[in-house]
Amino acid sequence: MADSAGTQSGQNGPFDVVILGGGSGGYACALRAAQLGMKVALVEKGELGGTCLHRGCIPTKALLHAAEVADSSRESEQFGVRTSFEGIDMPAVNAYKDGVVARLYKGLQGLVKSRKITFVEGMGRLVSPTAVEVDGQRYEGKYVVLATGSYAKSLPGLDIDGSQVITSDQALRLDRVPASVVVLGGGVIGCEFASVWKSFGAEVTIVEALPHLVPLEDEQSSKMLERAFRKRKIAFELGARFSGVEKTEGGVKVSLENGKTIEAELLLVAVGRGPTSQELGYEQVGVEMERGFVKVDEHCQTNVPTISAVGDLIPTLQLAHVGFGEGIMVAERLGGLEPAPIDYDGVPRVTYSEPEVASVGITESRAKEKYGDDGIETLTYDLAGNGKSQILKTAGFVKLVRQKDGPVVGIHMVGSRVGELVAEAQLIYGWEAYPDDVASLVHAHPTQTEAVGEAHLALAGKPLHAHG
Ligand SMILES: Cc1cc2nc3c(=O)[nH]c(=O)nc-3n(C[C@H](O)[C@H](O)[C@H](O)COP(=O)(O)OP(=O)(O)OC[C@H]3O[C@@H](n4cnc5c(N)ncnc54)[C@H](O)[C@@H]3O)c2cc1C
Repeated sequence: MADSAGTQSGQNGPFDVVILGGGSGGYACALRAAQLGMKVALVEKGELGGTCLHRGCIPTKALLHAAEVADSSRESEQFGVRTSFEGIDMPAVNAYKDGVVARLYKGLQGLVKSRKITFVEGMGRLVSPTAVEVDGQRYEGKYVVLATGSYAKSLPGLDIDGSQVITSDQALRLDRVPASVVVLGGGVIGCEFASVWKSFGAEVTIVEALPHLVPLEDEQSSKMLERAFRKRKIAFELGARFSGVEKTEGGVKVSLENGKTIEAELLLVAVGRGPTSQELGYEQVGVEMERGFVKVDEHCQTNVPTISAVGDLIPTLQLAHVGFGEGIMVAERLGGLEPAPIDYDGVPRVTYSEPEVASVGITESRAKEKYGDDGIETLTYDLAGNGKSQILKTAGFVKLVRQKDGPVVGIHMVGSRVGELVAEAQLIYGWEAYPDDVASLVHAHPTQTEAVGEAHLALAGKPLHAHG
């Protein structure tokens, strides 16, 4: 056993909690459990921090920031600033990205150590309702938490070769800007990479089988993103199913079921993520599974009372902050507290492309299903009326969905930087605020948050910078 971040080497129990997987869900659970005085073992086969820190949220957002800097320098004349854009130095971009990851990784390792968590490096396997085995060593705990995360999926017959046909894992390590890319999948990950590569100078085509990009978002948000991507000359094929890929001298030739073919240097496969749950002993110990996901109740407890599961391994939203929330909730439950279940509709969702798409609560179509066509009201406030958005030269909107004569149940936003507005939107949704409640709050001028305020003023029947 290696014990790089823990207390004493050789310490293998008994523990209060043994956590399998040190990604967002697992380490959040470990940190909170330790805070509550529990004795914790955290087992990780790769790097503490998991997908989010090393192959997900953080490195992609660093690339997106570099992309924003590239756009700013290319478009600076619009603001009267003369610069010359000379190109992307990909090794230097990667050094910047890796530096951010390295600093956060070091900080996280320090945090785990400071909370006296026993960190076990190695491949773990569930061997009983209360034990995990790593390299022949058994770690016993009163409770076990499964947090083994997810992997990038592919389609049947579509082999990832890691050079011409890649997933986000390889895309984050590319040492060059490809001349052209086909992105298979127009969800969050696909749209973010499409946005980065376009800003870096690549020709990009997204292929999405469903009728819209970011198909889980409100349809109005998807359409607004599509309009913005069209303007940026990011091509996309919607409602188009992939039928095959051939390797060519220059890269790949992708065929669609509609008969079209697209040639490019690379194919990025971004068709979703599957749970990492195979051959880890879960079924043998009797943990109930569904399509590879571990089944849990609203408190993330499995059918085996001593075993809980969190993060991408369970069929909830695959987001780092959902993993954090679930990990904390489980730690508190195991620590004898009574945490409330998570309201998954109240979890903010952000696609960090240019422009950004952000939302909380339910879409207009779900609100109609829930309250009836006549049971809701919506209002869309155009960012054309928002001073700060005009200064930034961004287009988009803040859309509100409310239950008629009731609270706001959905907030949907598109535009540069709107991801930062989701914090207020989340409070509005979480507090079941009425438009009037928010309308009475004075928002700072000129900020983009004003658009949130103005939308509520308008829905409360007293629009200021909008036509009534
Ligand atoms: C490209 C990309 C961009 C993303 N961007 C965002 C974003 O901007 N915002 C956001 O909220 N989410 C984002 N996500 C999603 C986010 O990364 C995941 O939701 C999150 O990492 C899930 O956390 P987790 O703990 O469930 O799993 P993971 O982070 O995958 O962690 C699981 C850990 O378990 C370890 N493990 C697995 N099996 C074993 C074993 N047998 N023994 C020991 N250890 C094991 C793995 O090595 C891994 O470290 C992104 C994902 C990707 C791929």
